[in-house]
Amino acid sequence: MPEIEQGPIRPPSEAHSLLLRVTRNCSWNHCEFCHIYKGQRFSPRTVEEVKRDIDNIQAMVSEIRSLSWNLGFGGEISASVAGSILTPPGLCPEGYRSVILWLYQGGKTVFLQDANNLILRTKDLVEILTYLRKTFPSIERITTYSRAKTVSRKTLEELRDLHDAGLSRIHIGLESGYDPLLELVKKGVTARDHIDAGRKVKAAGISLSEYIMPGLGGKSMSREHATETARVLNQIDPDFIRVRTLKALEVMPLYRRIEAGQLQIMSDDEIIAEERLLIQNLDGIRSRFTSDHILNLLEELEGDFPEAKERMLAVIDRYLALDLPERENFRLGRRGGYYRALDDMNNTELRARVDQIRKRIEDERPGQFEQVISDLMESFI
Ligand code: SF4
Repeated sequence: MPEIEQGPIRPPSEAHSLLLRVTRNCSWNHCEFCHIYKGQRFSPRTVEEVKRDIDNIQAMVSEIRSLSWNLGFGGEISASVAGSILTPPGLCPEGYRSVILWLYQGGKTVFLQDANNLILRTKDLVEILTYLRKTFPSIERITTYSRAKTVSRKTLEELRDLHDAGLSRIHIGLESGYDPLLELVKKGVTARDHIDAGRKVKAAGISLSEYIMPGLGGKSMSREHATETARVLNQIDPDFIRVRTLKALEVMPLYRRIEAGQLQIMSDDEIIAEERLLIQNLDGIRSRFTSDHILNLLEELEGDFPEAKERMLAVIDRYLALDLPERENFRLGRRGGYYRALDDMNNTELRARVDQIRKRIEDERPGQFEQVISDLMESFI
C-alpha cells in the first residue's frame, strides 16, 4: 500500500483538511513559546516528492472509492463505509486513514504542512498547487502556515501567482504587535513586518488568518501586548483573528524565563482582562474573531467585527462579574471538557458533575486547584 508523509500539526480550523507535507519542520524554529519542531531540522521537500505523495493519495482515493462500490455505497464515503474500512482500529496505516477521513468530510480542503511553506521558491509552490488542483479538481480551499517575515520578502506579483495557482489562505502567527515582546520571545519579526506581510497577503487576494497569543507578555507587558496587538490588527484588518492562549510547558524555552522570574505567568482571569483590553481597542476592522482553540477559556468570544464587538465585551464582563467560586466552577468545567459557554453552568446535570469533581479535588488534592487546572490544560497540548 502506498504511504504519504505527514507533519505533526495543523490549525484547528483545518481539522477536516487533507494534510500534505510540503516542507519539514520550521525554517526559523527560535520562538521561545513554541516546542513543536525544537530539535528537528528544517528541510524542503522536492517538487517530485510532493507530487509523488499527491499521486499516492489519488491511488488511495481510487481504492477507497472502489471499496465503497463493493460495499454497495456507489463510491460515496459514508460513516459506515469509513467505519468498515477503518475497522479493526490500528491496522490501517496513518496516511491511508487520514485520506479516508478526508473523503468522509467531503474531500474539499487541503492544508499544506509544515510551518513556513512560503520559504519555497514561488515557482515550485505554484507547480505543487497546480498539480494538486489538476489531480483533485473538486478541491475548494488550499491553505498553509507561513512566517510574516518570509511573506514580506515575496513580491506582490509572486503572492498573486500563488493565489492564482490555488492558494486560498495563509495562517500567520502574529502572537503580538508589541516589538519588545516579539524580540524577547525571539519571534524574529517586528510589528512593521507583520503589517507589511498581512497587507500584502490581502492585496494578493489571499485570505489571511492571524493568530494572537494572550498571556504571552506576562503581567508586566500585558497592557502593551494587548494595545499594540490591537493596533497592528487594526492596520492589517485580517479576514480572521484567531486566539490561542499561552500555556507555558517545561519543554518550551520560555519556561526557563519564567523560572528565572523574567516573565510572570498570568492567571486565567488576568488573561481574560487582557483580552478585554485587546477587543476594546480593535477598531475599523471587518475581521472574524474566533476562539477556536481548546486553551482559550471563553470559547464564545467569536463573531464578526464590528457587529460582534459589544457582545464579546459583554461576555467577558459577565465572566469577570461572577464571584470567585463561580469563576472557578466555570474554569474547571471548561478545562474538564464539560462547559463550552457560560450558560452551561445553568445546566443542572453538567453543573452537578463539575461540582462533584470540585469536591473530589478538595478531598484528594486539597489546596491544589490551580495545579489541577494547569494539568488539565497541559493534557490538551
Ligand atoms: S515560526 Fe511558528 S513553528 Fe516556527 S518556531 Fe515560531 S511559532 Fe514555532
